[in-house]
Amino acid sequence: MADAQKGLGPVKRFGTRYGRTTKHKLAKIEIEMKKDHKCPYCAKPKVHRVSYGIWKCDKCKNIFTARAYTVGQKLSLIDQAAQMVAESPRLKEADEEE
Ligand SMILES: [Zn+2]
Repeated sequence: MADAQKGLGPVKRFGTRYGRTTKHKLAKIEIEMKKDHKCPYCAKPKVHRVSYGIWKCDKCKNIFTARAYTVGQKLSLIDQAAQMVAESPRLKEADEEE
């Protein structure tokens, strides 16, 4: 019994119901969702989820949208440009011709 509930965290509230696989999948999402996230504005780990995709920082009081269950990472302009170059087939061909 104790081993079956290992790693379930907040999903232990369902007890013996709903099956092992679905509960472990939900546990992975909920543990990520409930931990403190880093604020993209003030960089403090004080961001909490308000609703689906809506997050609020307790430190700077900013309310913003992000991913449904996690804040995720905002790419810098340099990273965005590198990603665009990597995904563009025309730029790759130009590199190979040179
Ligand atoms: Zn903040």
